Amino acid sequence: YQCKHCTFSTNFHSVIEQHISTNHSQDRELMCPYCKVKLVDNDHIMSHYNTH
Ligand SMILES: [Zn+2]
Ligand SMILES: [Zn+2]
Repeated sequence: YQCKHCTFSTNFHSVIEQHISTNHSQDRELMCPYCKVKLVDNDHIMSHYNTH
C-alpha cells in the first residue's frame, strides 16, 4: 500500500490507514494564517498565498 499523500508505503492496510489518519488528516484543516480561509492541499495553498 502506497500513501497517496507522501512517499510512505507499507504491506499492511491497517498501517496505511493509521498513517493517513495521523499524518494527513490535518491537511484538510489547514488554514491560511492571513485570512483564516480553509485550504485543501499544497497547490491550493500556494496559489492562495499568491493572492496576498
Ligand atoms: Zn503519507
Ligand atoms: Zn488567505
